[in-house]
Amino acid sequence: MLKESCGIFGIFGHADAARLTYLGLYALQHRGQESAGIVVSDGNKMSGHRGMGLVADVFSHEVLKKLSGHLAIGHVRYSTTGSSIIENAQPFFVKYSQGSIAIAHNGNLVNTLRLRNELEKSGSIFQSTMDSEAVIHLIARSNETDLEKRVIYSLTQIEGAYCFALLTEDRLIAIRDPRGFRPLCLGKLDDAYCLASETCVLDLIQAEYVRDVEPGEILFIDKNGLHSVRPFSGMKHSFCIFEFIYFARPDSDIFGKSVYLTRRRLGMQLAKECPVEADLVMPIPDSGNYAALGYAEQSGIPFEMGIVRNHYVGRTFIEPSQYVRDLGVKVKLNPVKEILKGKRIVIVEDSIVRGTTSRSRIRTLRNAGAKEIHMRVSCPPHRFPCFYGIDFPTKDELIASSHTLEEIRDYIGLNSIGYLSLEGMLNLMYLDKKEFCVACFDGNYPIPTNEEVSKYRLE
Ligand code: SF4
Repeated sequence: MLKESCGIFGIFGHADAARLTYLGLYALQHRGQESAGIVVSDGNKMSGHRGMGLVADVFSHEVLKKLSGHLAIGHVRYSTTGSSIIENAQPFFVKYSQGSIAIAHNGNLVNTLRLRNELEKSGSIFQSTMDSEAVIHLIARSNETDLEKRVIYSLTQIEGAYCFALLTEDRLIAIRDPRGFRPLCLGKLDDAYCLASETCVLDLIQAEYVRDVEPGEILFIDKNGLHSVRPFSGMKHSFCIFEFIYFARPDSDIFGKSVYLTRRRLGMQLAKECPVEADLVMPIPDSGNYAALGYAEQSGIPFEMGIVRNHYVGRTFIEPSQYVRDLGVKVKLNPVKEILKGKRIVIVEDSIVRGTTSRSRIRTLRNAGAKEIHMRVSCPPHRFPCFYGIDFPTKDELIASSHTLEEIRDYIGLNSIGYLSLEGMLNLMYLDKKEFCVACFDGNYPIPTNEEVSKYRLE
């Protein structure tokens, strides 16, 4: 299973800032389940709490009560740089010569190894093994006197994919990298402003969507309102297309478009490109649900839920070892034998990474009596890793990087397999195809990196 790097939330001007941040993080839980944190400010003093685990486990009623203030940022994390330990939980919160500052980051920087070496040589002491901490050091060490210039200076030093929420005693700052890899939106709740990785957060806290934070924009929010600078705009965009396919919640709009509708269109295009005669179309819940709906609609083959998901299995149960991963698949998903027995089925998936999970699921479906199993994937084969905030396995572990279509079909145990074409996928996007990053499919990385990009590179 692929993992997103993180989700971020920020709010300015609400008496219940910590509690709203908690709800915001709740809605972003799909973007990271390893740790969660909130930092608040009452205008003078900042305080925070971070912990390992899910949002609901990290924050009790008592903890939230202590986090008083009208501005806050929050973070849920899945590690793409650094181990899953409390020191690496965010937001980072430090005191320096100009006051206090906290940072929450979604994305992945690609030049931090060099940057960190340089900073350490000149005396910086790092508390974590996370790339985001370098940004705090750069802000603290800048010779500029004013915060705006310090922030701009730090951004000139970093490369990669980033959305940041920064908090000082009296300011909230939203930053999106010039290529706009990850989504970030601005909302309004009464007189308060908020920002979030996805619009589903705004729905939950009943905030109104104002606009997306633009690629290259640095948005300052304080008692005087909003103020933006765009020192890095005009660069070619690289919106992560995989946010549409897999990561973002279906009830969100990202990059200005509905995730649900985009996934359904992907499924419809898939049915046009890879038709097959079958009795029913089904997803492996919950991934692939909306693409499967589109496939069924376009092909005229009935849609069924041939597998039922047990929603009460904690994600933390799924350990990274292969044995437990296989076990986890069976505990989480149970086939409905009466639906599957003797049927020719089309399974619509949103990705195949190593192929091991699919293989185990197909075995379960065969045991449940399915006569033929055809798999259709609503994106092209993943052949390359991601350096911009999605935790892909190495190139060697991606099944499509070293196996032909026929070999993948045989390994997973299918009657047939078909992937959506790159052209087909890009042509149905509402935006121009040049606006997207598709590096994990075609290997054309928008920001080349010479650094080793393992998530443990800073350890
Ligand atoms: S490489 Fe793939 S997952 Fe990574 S940012 Fe680009 S499209 Fe998204």
